[in-house]
Amino acid sequence: MTEPQSAADNQNPLLAEWAGDFGLPPFGKIGPEHFRPAFDRALARHRVEIDRISANAAAPSFDNTIVALEKSGRELERVANVFFLLAGADTGDAIEAVEREVSPLLARHGNALYLDRALYARIAELYRNRESLGLSAEQARVLERYHTRFVRAGGALDKPAQDRLAAINERLASLGTAFGQNVLADEKAYVLVLEEGDLAGLPDFARAAARAAADERGHPGQYAITLARSSCEGFLQFSARRDLREKVFQAWIKRGENGGATDNRALIAEMVSLRAERAKLLGFASFADYRLADQMAKTPQAARDLLDEVWGRARAKANVERDALQAMIAQEGGNFALAPHDWRYYAEKLRKARYDLDEAEIKPYFQLDKMIEAAFETARRLFGLRFTPVSLPLYHPDARAFEVTDEAGRHVGLFIGDYFARGSKHSGAWMTSLRDQEKLVGDIHPVILNVCNFSKPAAGEKALLSFDDARTLFHEFGHGLHGLLSNVTYPLLAGTSVSSDFVELPSQLYEHWLEVPEILQKYARHARTGKPMPKALLDRLLATRTFNQGFATVEYTACALVDLDVHSLPEPGALDVSAFERTSLDRIAMPAEIVMRHRLPHFQHLFSGGGYAAGYYSYMWSEVLDADAFEAFEETGNSFDPATAQRLRDFIYGAGNLRDPAEAYKAFRGRLPAVDALLKKRGLDNAAV
Ligand SMILES: [Zn+2]
Repeated sequence: MTEPQSAADNQNPLLAEWAGDFGLPPFGKIGPEHFRPAFDRALARHRVEIDRISANAAAPSFDNTIVALEKSGRELERVANVFFLLAGADTGDAIEAVEREVSPLLARHGNALYLDRALYARIAELYRNRESLGLSAEQARVLERYHTRFVRAGGALDKPAQDRLAAINERLASLGTAFGQNVLADEKAYVLVLEEGDLAGLPDFARAAARAAADERGHPGQYAITLARSSCEGFLQFSARRDLREKVFQAWIKRGENGGATDNRALIAEMVSLRAERAKLLGFASFADYRLADQMAKTPQAARDLLDEVWGRARAKANVERDALQAMIAQEGGNFALAPHDWRYYAEKLRKARYDLDEAEIKPYFQLDKMIEAAFETARRLFGLRFTPVSLPLYHPDARAFEVTDEAGRHVGLFIGDYFARGSKHSGAWMTSLRDQEKLVGDIHPVILNVCNFSKPAAGEKALLSFDDARTLFHEFGHGLHGLLSNVTYPLLAGTSVSSDFVELPSQLYEHWLEVPEILQKYARHARTGKPMPKALLDRLLATRTFNQGFATVEYTACALVDLDVHSLPEPGALDVSAFERTSLDRIAMPAEIVMRHRLPHFQHLFSGGGYAAGYYSYMWSEVLDADAFEAFEETGNSFDPATAQRLRDFIYGAGNLRDPAEAYKAFRGRLPAVDALLKKRGLDNAAV
């Protein structure tokens, strides 16, 4: 077998040695046209590597099979990391076209790997003999993970079943790509252009953001509301114009459900059916059963038990909240029933009335730059990390880089923050990496990114965040630390490569430190005066933590339950997606005034990539963990208790997937988590039922 190589490949900046600072790819030289040939060569090379492993005449050993697998596919990983970073954070027609081409290729490639029967036979033999191989604990975990992955991917099935599985996976990959692109298309297609006279209720920062959005959308001098979450949620929260709120809200909740080329319902029906069929082939009753078996939760019932425990209390609290909002409408002389597009607006008013607190008063204290510093300072106090800005050529001028070092000044990794919304970026916020930590092929340090969608300020203005935005920043930074602090040998186990009902623990736990008074006092400083937030305001802000939590919990939990419902169907058949969603919500008596945080037609967690399919519950599952874990600090009376922080680093942030998640948690906490801390945190422990 020869390795494919051509003169054109040698000119391709993706395939050349990345000799820039910190081993970054040469972003300035990379164009969309380089990806397809780079993928082609990298895929072919990986295939050659795999074939060598699987056809090896020598008896399987940990080294010639597992270590060889761990060392394979490096070029493909590098190309894919750059590509998917851009496909998410700075995409365009050319990148989208490549994405549509390569996603089935990648799925086919992954299938060929996991359905390679000779390769599986080697792994299975090693796994059978695992006790006698003299493996370290980490090596044993790597072997167990490979074995489980291959079995779950169909490595042990007969050929016809494998062929069907491969076809299903490829089709799912294409559908997932189309799903995400449809949502983005609906978001890009919509803009509500407003005049000065339409802005009643909008505070200065929202006006400034709307003006900047109008500039970007080609309506200079006017104001624009877009379907970026921060733009549209801000508008729903502040706009006094009920008619305009309704317009924006309808556009927001109809994403992916507008008929025509970008309607996602047929895609969902097909994906749900294919997933159910795949689960059956692998011996599971439903996709949810299949999915949960390899999670911390283990069964759909365990996830439902948690959600049900929360749901009843959340609904009761939301009904109390609704009555208060309706009373406010009546008090103002309004003669209408509270509608979903009214909730955020009246909740904001009630928050202001009850706590004398309004978002416009809070927001100047949450400067993006100061909140980044606050996240860094928290990491310094917990883990001794320092962050130093470095000027590097990145993929977009809005992205900024920081070198991360430890107390002794040793290099830990590189952190890149890309915070502002733009038309070329998918919505949401996420952490990703250009390189993961490992020690198998040398002491490899990670390059970790946070991508967010905060409103970009007008030129010359400081970027301000809502308190929720600041929480998002801390959340993604927590994921970032999970990548940066990773301390494993084998890449398979590095950083965030843990089960999805455990992966939100480091991120959600980190949010708690934003609310630690000493962090807020130091970093919540007024954008104009530089003064810290007055104590009284801070106290009122913290007092609102449980405000509107009935709404937030209902909005979320409904999604998690509908997700489990749709993925628990043994035979979905020709699913009517809109009707199914309605029936599922009726079953749990969804309050009429609240809409799911993500309706199925634009539920990207489930259908764009599918990482959270039958897994959306995991945010709540992780929240049980994070609330309980933060209590470990509170019990010491010190939010930065060094001994607790050390255990946190050893068993959670630095430990990747070295252990089963339940074991890792027990090693940190000394016991399994209890739900009480979560209910208290959300103010649901004594909800008026
Ligand atoms: Zn997260």
